[in-house]
Amino acid sequence: MNNLIFSLRAFFKKNNTYSNRRENLYLSMECLIDLGYKIQDIKNLKKKHIDILVQLWKKQQTHIYVIGERIEDLRWLTNKIGKARIVERDNIGYGKEFDITCPYCNTKAELVSGNVIYPYRIDLENSFYYLCSHCNAYVGTHKESKYPLGMLANENLRKMRLLVHRSMDQLWKSKMMTRNEVYSLLAYEMNIKKEETHIGLFDLEKCSMALDIISAYKEYISYVQDQIRDAYTYQQEIKISMALKNKN
Ligand SMILES: [Zn+2]
Repeated sequence: MNNLIFSLRAFFKKNNTYSNRRENLYLSMECLIDLGYKIQDIKNLKKKHIDILVQLWKKQQTHIYVIGERIEDLRWLTNKIGKARIVERDNIGYGKEFDITCPYCNTKAELVSGNVIYPYRIDLENSFYYLCSHCNAYVGTHKESKYPLGMLANENLRKMRLLVHRSMDQLWKSKMMTRNEVYSLLAYEMNIKKEETHIGLFDLEKCSMALDIISAYKEYISYVQDQIRDAYTYQQEIKISMALKNKN
């Protein structure tokens, strides 16, 4: 295994975090290796490495929210290893496009605590949202980094995204597919990059596309299960009739 990847893996053993963040950080290190950098340890990361990664992803036309999330994860990592200053303090340090704006009216969104949006939900007091005070569109944020989970959405779009989430959850919770496989299926069928298959980035059209794909897939799976069940029953029947014949 490459030394840089090895040092990141060792770091995760002491500093566990959620899988999406781990994947993002492994991917960042792999990008640096592909670029030809021979970095031996995450402690040797420098400002130029982070800068070049952001440039690379912009050139690859990765969605700005996806890049933003990766920067947040790099900020978390470098903070933990005492090198916080190699990542800009705010994503806007990497370009104005990282400003969180409302897709409906283009106003700059503000970070507010949960009780601004849900005044009666004490449990949401410590969660954060990006809100457009102009048209009341909002989106939740990652707990630790407070980076938005996607683009701001109005009520209609929020409801649709919730439906997609529920529908997807049923699929992977039923153990017919893993969560990762469900995302791969959507990426393939919708012809979008896997890394951009974030429900938080879906608009109304993409939400309804995703719902159609998932329900078609559920139907297909239940058809296959029926076939298997029928075949099994048929096999059992043959076994029984053969046993009867032998007896006679
Ligand atoms: Zn707005």
